[in-house]
Amino acid sequence: MKLYPFRGNFTQQEPISEEGIAAALEVLRSGRLHRYNTVGSELSQVSLLEQEYASFQDTRYCLACASGGYSLHIALRAAGLRPGQLVLTNAFTLAPVPGAIINAGGSPVFVETTQDLIIDLKDLERKIINSGARFLLLSYMRGHMPDMDRVMDILNRHDITLLEDCAHTMGASWDGKKSGNFGLAGCFSAQTYKHLNAGEGGLLTSSDPQFMARAIILSGSYMLYGRHGAAPEAEVFKDIRLDTPNCSGRMDNVRAAILRPQLADLERNIERWNERYRLIESKLRKVDNIYLPVRLLKEHYVGSSFQFLIPGITEVGARAFLEGCMTLGVELKWFGAAEPVAFTSTHKSWRYIEPQNLPATDQVMAGLFDMRIPLTFSTTDCIHIGQIIAAKADDLIGKGYVDN
Ligand SMILES: *Cc1c(COP(=O)(O)O)cnc(C)c1O
Repeated sequence: MKLYPFRGNFTQQEPISEEGIAAALEVLRSGRLHRYNTVGSELSQVSLLEQEYASFQDTRYCLACASGGYSLHIALRAAGLRPGQLVLTNAFTLAPVPGAIINAGGSPVFVETTQDLIIDLKDLERKIINSGARFLLLSYMRGHMPDMDRVMDILNRHDITLLEDCAHTMGASWDGKKSGNFGLAGCFSAQTYKHLNAGEGGLLTSSDPQFMARAIILSGSYMLYGRHGAAPEAEVFKDIRLDTPNCSGRMDNVRAAILRPQLADLERNIERWNERYRLIESKLRKVDNIYLPVRLLKEHYVGSSFQFLIPGITEVGARAFLEGCMTLGVELKWFGAAEPVAFTSTHKSWRYIEPQNLPATDQVMAGLFDMRIPLTFSTTDCIHIGQIIAAKADDLIGKGYVDN
């Protein structure tokens, strides 16, 4: 079969809707861009977004802030992390996750990742016992959720505080319960490549009043927390407001105005992502040397990006495969390179942290390929992309590119 090159752009998101543009213009015309710059009893766009997101997420409280990484950092601080304390987290995650732990004064302990791209629960329990860490920052990297029944069983037995990095699982759930609602807090991103696009932005959710009061003061609320839309009662702030530093990182009204109409469309967009994801999956399922991470039955995921493994692929093979896909317009990311490219850094490139031995994760990453699925791709585009990847993966067979 002759394959034509794919011409789409893997970083092109959909435009902001006319409704979002009109809402942003209204804020700009008002001049009141700061979240606390309100008139009378008016709730700002940021406070309204917090109410709507808390309702979407089914939590009591929500705080909008500057970025997903910022929300992770203040979540750790509001959870009571003290300087020098250890924080368990996935070895396979994005650089802002270890960055947030360092920013909060903590020290990351990486837990192995399985070939299904989830945290290795045996290694987790072993490291809970051996390290003495009291916190787990669980990163659902690229939208993969582990067996949350087993995770919670382990964490409850060892009395570990859970914080969830839901940058790729906004709208995802396990057995009907939304990601972000299992631990003390959920952290979400509204950066351009995530499920809501404000350029930059973060959302932090929790149902714990003391935690949320600390997070709100940390975010830089001054003494204006009474103007929030989804915050605890004023009395909860009584001591917290004076005992907690202001680490300025608020969201502004323009971003919130852009996000509110997108939130209303999120469920529909999740279906669009998953339709595209399943079409690519159907093409790759037939290829012998491709391993697709297993999704558990209770997991309701959001297929906004696609990952697959070619176990045993050599470095030369991986480069030939990337090149082959690229010449047909399919831009894959590879996590096995010694030098990080764009977003694909690994624990080995985070040299500000003491080196840690993670042989299982290293093996997984050596064969791990990744791509975004922007909603500007049609379903036909996704079939086309799947065909190109499948053909190029098939080409590797019998050329010494894959050790088995
Ligand atoms: C994007 C991302 C973050 C951080 O979000 P920002 O809004 O870019 O700071 C955290 N964790 C993961 C897994 C991410 O992909």
